[in-house]
Amino acid sequence: MPARPSLTPIFNSGVAVVLRKFLFVVLVLLLSVFFCTKDRPGVPKKEIVPAPEPRQVSITIAAMGDFLMHLPVVYSVKDPLTGRFEFGKIFSPVKELIAGADYSIANLETRLAGAAAGYSGYPRFNCPADLAAEMHACGLDMFLTANNHSLDKGAEGVIATIRNLAAAGMDHVGTYASAEEKAQPFLKDIKGVKVGILNYTSSTNGLPVPKDKPYLVNLIDRPVMLEEIKKMRQAGADVIIACPHFGTEYSRSPGKEQRDLVDFLFQSGVDIVLGNHPHVVQPVQFRTVTENGVRKKKFVVYSLGNFISNQRWRYSDSGLLVNLKITKNLDDGETFLEDVELIPVWVDTYQARGQYNYRVLPVEEAIKNYEEGSDPLLTAADYQRLKQVAEELGPDFLFLKEDALEIAKQ
Ligand SMILES: [Zn+2]
Repeated sequence: MPARPSLTPIFNSGVAVVLRKFLFVVLVLLLSVFFCTKDRPGVPKKEIVPAPEPRQVSITIAAMGDFLMHLPVVYSVKDPLTGRFEFGKIFSPVKELIAGADYSIANLETRLAGAAAGYSGYPRFNCPADLAAEMHACGLDMFLTANNHSLDKGAEGVIATIRNLAAAGMDHVGTYASAEEKAQPFLKDIKGVKVGILNYTSSTNGLPVPKDKPYLVNLIDRPVMLEEIKKMRQAGADVIIACPHFGTEYSRSPGKEQRDLVDFLFQSGVDIVLGNHPHVVQPVQFRTVTENGVRKKKFVVYSLGNFISNQRWRYSDSGLLVNLKITKNLDDGETFLEDVELIPVWVDTYQARGQYNYRVLPVEEAIKNYEEGSDPLLTAADYQRLKQVAEELGPDFLFLKEDALEIAKQ
């Protein structure tokens, strides 16, 4: 009789199948016990529904540095036929960056006091009021007006400047025509995010603010600032941006006074600080502040540098355009700084139509354009300087180490 060696294996394998089935059932049972411990007989299983996405809105705010309007810059854009000052052409290479943001801010380091006051550069600035309409057409929304040149054309110059800005549809903060105007917190509703903006200066170049008109220029004064920050929050600000005009001119690092003031502003409820005045870029810093047990990310640029000027030397011929992305959760109102983009800019000069011209260029793009040969106005020397600016305003210089700033805030 032939051996039936195959029987055993068949039999054995049958046992193996049964065993495997048994083990599988045990495993399934174990797993179902593990995963469904909350299930009770007769109670319908909960369906797993993904948590709803929070409803939120994001806005972008672009900020740039000093509009230090020296006369060679001013007269480079004068149309000989119409007499108009066509400032817009200086900014056409960065127009997209300005107009592309939901809101944009710059520092007006001159006055728009009118032709009768005489146009002038350093040390007492006065620029044609065409700047207001021209910048508005470039997409700029706000000029900060409190700085060491606020009183260059006296109290009349302060008032004429803000009237000219308003006439062109530009927002402004920092100087006021009356105590009533100063008492109104500046709050801008941008797509449902209420942004409060404040501006103060450390100096008025030795020209005192008239005693009977203290509202004319916002000076750095901590008790007053604290009051105004509180008022702004009470008025419903989701985010507060403070723009102090401070620091030491031409110093590339923030001094102790600047750091102390920034700490004070963060402690007082300010979320973002955008500094101006040194005419060179100073670094940026993210700070963590604990408020009512909640950690909040805050951000400071100690100095945005010059945006446009005739300061042709190294460090003062460049600046930063900062693009802030701010997000608000529409369910709980929580608003936070989501992202920051830092774009170095450089002032280029060139000869055309027999005269000297200025234009503000985004550094990275300008370098690319030169390399591709698509910008005939850039020279080899310009290219070298652009590469140097990219290095000077690189991440190694720009980002100060993060400091935690723990505040027990009630
Ligand atoms: Zn200044």
